Amino acid sequence: MFSFLKKRKRARLRAVSFPDAWAAHLDANAPVYRRLPDDLRAQLHGHIHVFLAEKVFEGCNGLEMTDEIRVTIAGQACLLVLNRDTDYFPDLVTVLVYPSVFYADLAEPDEHGHIVSEYQEDRSGESWDLGVVILSWQDIAQLASTGRSGYNVVLHEFAHQLDMENGALDGAPKLPTRSRRDAWRRAFGEAYDRFERAVSSGRSTMLDPYGAGDPSEFFAVATESFFERPVALRHEYPSLYEELARYYCVDPASWSPPAGTSTAARMRPGRARRRRPRGRG
Ligand SMILES: [Zn+2]
Repeated sequence: MFSFLKKRKRARLRAVSFPDAWAAHLDANAPVYRRLPDDLRAQLHGHIHVFLAEKVFEGCNGLEMTDEIRVTIAGQACLLVLNRDTDYFPDLVTVLVYPSVFYADLAEPDEHGHIVSEYQEDRSGESWDLGVVILSWQDIAQLASTGRSGYNVVLHEFAHQLDMENGALDGAPKLPTRSRRDAWRRAFGEAYDRFERAVSSGRSTMLDPYGAGDPSEFFAVATESFFERPVALRHEYPSLYEELARYYCVDPASWSPPAGTSTAARMRPGRARRRRPRGRG
């Protein structure tokens, strides 16, 4: 009964008209939104209404929460649920937003589990399995304004949420059948090994080197590139692209290219390493 009521409420929310001001925020702050075909754009608008109705947004360190922030984050998170039978990140309750990078207290244990050092690390995002995503608004807004593609902290942290849906943060999201899981393991494993070899030998790759050393980070950075630099990803990692397209049920390489971006710029090799959280970051 609850499920029926939830479905009906969500259907009502998806049918609400989408404010022009919200579309303007997405136009300004979400580069992928500008390339979306009309039918997916309309679908995204509906998902945003549901997301905003169901998730709590809180500003931290004095950040005043605005429609621009909420819609920009919801709009990019919901790219990951287009065309999918989705429950809208069911474990997620709260999105915390800091004005800029925030600091995490970390402790480094020795082999006996004793703390040998404590330090702080700057973060632009974190994704927890306790129902929380944390984001730096500056990282979201500033990178959108510079038009830098392939780095998207919202896509990154919400990809971690999907990764955790099957109970393990291991770079393999929830897949419906054994054959799909096997196909994923093959394509993902081959791409991950090739990527690891490239990064460890100093060769350039179009994926963010941050994804090396941890399959969950590889899935998160591959998700960023799948939406932000799909043609380059399909060119360099065709099997990985194909599995991501099957999982996400969209084909971003077929969408219109980013305005004012040359093919050469879109295909440029790797970028400087950016600091983002490891593990559940
Ligand atoms: Zn991460």
